[in-house]
This record gives sequence, C-alpha cells and structure tokens, in this order.
Amino acid sequence: LFLGSRYESTAAASDSGNPPPPPAEKYEYQAEVSRLMDLIVNSLYSNKEVFLRELIRHHLTISACCMKYNRTMYGYFISSLICNASDALDKLRYLSVTDPQLSKDAVDLDIRIQTDKDNGIITISDSGIGMTRQELVDCLGTIAQSGTAKFLKAVKESKDAGTDNNLIGQFGVGFYSAFLVSDKVVVSTKSPKSDKQYVWEGEANASSYTIREETNPENLIPRGTRLTLYLKRDDKGFAHPERIQKLVKNYSQFVSFPIYTWQEKG
Ligand code: ADP
Ligand code: MG
Repeated sequence: LFLGSRYESTAAASDSGNPPPPPAEKYEYQAEVSRLMDLIVNSLYSNKEVFLRELIRHHLTISACCMKYNRTMYGYFISSLICNASDALDKLRYLSVTDPQLSKDAVDLDIRIQTDKDNGIITISDSGIGMTRQELVDCLGTIAQSGTAKFLKAVKESKDAGTDNNLIGQFGVGFYSAFLVSDKVVVSTKSPKSDKQYVWEGEANASSYTIREETNPENLIPRGTRLTLYLKRDDKGFAHPERIQKLVKNYSQFVSFPIYTWQEKG
C-alpha cells in the first residue's frame, strides 16, 4: 500500500510537470503554549466578555503598543495582530538601515486586511520582516516572550487558574489571541533572510501544528507575513467588512503604516 501511494504521487507529479510539494512537518507545542491554547480555547472562550473586558482594561495601562489601539473590547485579537504586523514592519525598516539587502524587494511597507464574509475568513497581510522556518518554530511554537511567561507563572500560582479572568487580563496573549475567534489559523511567511516561504498551520484544539514549504506559485509573496483566520461559527460576523473597518479605523490612527481593507466580491 505504501509503495502504491508513493507510486501514485510520483505519477501525479510527473503528469503536471511539477515535483510533489515537500510534506508538512508536524511539531508539538512547547508545554506552556499548549497550556495557553487550552486556556484560550476552553476557559477564555466561554467567559469571553469578561475576559476581553479585563484584558482591555489592564492592557490600557500595560502594553505600550497595544494600549493605543484598544478601544473596542471585541477588537482585541485584531489589535494584537495589527500590532504584530506593525512590529514586523518596524523591524524590517530598522534592520534595513544596517542591512539594506533585507529590503531589496521594493515592496511598499503596509498592512492589508481582507474579509470574506460568506466563508467567515479574515486575512491580515504585512510586508514586514517575515519569519524563517526556525523563527516560526521559535516564535509561534514556544513562549520566549517574558510577558506571556509571567502570565503563565501567575496562572500556575493562582488557585482558580482557568477562570481567573482578572489575572489573565493583566497580560496579553499576543498572537494566540487569534484562537479566541478562530478554529484554524494559517500563517504564510517569507523572510528576506530565506529564499523559501513557509506555511504554519494550527487548530484551536490541537497540541501540535504543522510547517510546510509554500510551493503554490499563486500563494508566493515577495516578503512578509499573511495570516488567515478561519473564524469560529459564532464569530463569523467579524468578517463583515463594516465591522472590521470600524475596528481598524480605531487602531489605524496610531499605526505609522497604511492599513488597507477590502472585501471579496460577493
Ligand atoms: P510579542 O509580539 O509580544 O512578541 P506575540 O505572541 O504577539 O508576542 O508574537 C510572538 C512572536 O511572533 C513575535 O515576537 C514575532 O517574532 C513573531 N510574529 C508574530 N506576528 C508576526 C508577523 N506578522 N511578522 C513577523 N513576525 C511575527
Ligand atoms: Mg505581539
């Protein structure tokens, strides 16, 4: 059977004239990430309103970047992700001063948000620094960041960890906040330090994620990161262009890069 399926895939590849894409590799999350994901998906989600209210309240005094963005509590995930996009663009601009090769692809520095309301999909793209394969593993599979590490330590020490929204609210959950509203998150990213583009894929209830090389020419980007959020059934409303535009309008005035929004033609 194994030989048979191997044979088939080789035959299919030679039919289309393209080599078969390299297989996706599976990685286990670092234990802390699994714990955080579990909190987000199981405890935070069921207490979303309280959690978000606390998170925004505390965030207003804690995060230098996000404090300027958070105006609407349900926009928390959007503000975190715009924040990351903006950070990635800043990083590229900053590192390019000493290493001009990094911005050799003459791409505008901007953020683009696309919504597909019929399918409940939001795409957030930036032309920033992107991530190499190793950076994907380090950044989206482990928690190196001290704020999140502190948060988990505090949760561990708390009696009623899972539902202590006040505690959770004191820290941010950054990238993982995407899982507050998404069943699946796909990150396609191209670092100027790598000649390859990689796709990270994670699901809300999983203990592992996958990374594969992007081989579909239609999906290749010159540089940066494209996040695709497949919204949970009850959260598909976020993909309504008016709703996203309203949220983005609140945050964009503090981001020094242009943010464009548009929608799929219905
Ligand atoms: P923080 O932004 O506080 O470091 P996050 O959970 O928001 O924590 O993100 C984790 C890391 O993932 C970031 O530090 C960054 O290295 C990487 N990252 C996230 N989003 C992007 C992006 N759009 N482009 C490049 N790197 C990113
Ligand atoms: Mg962040």
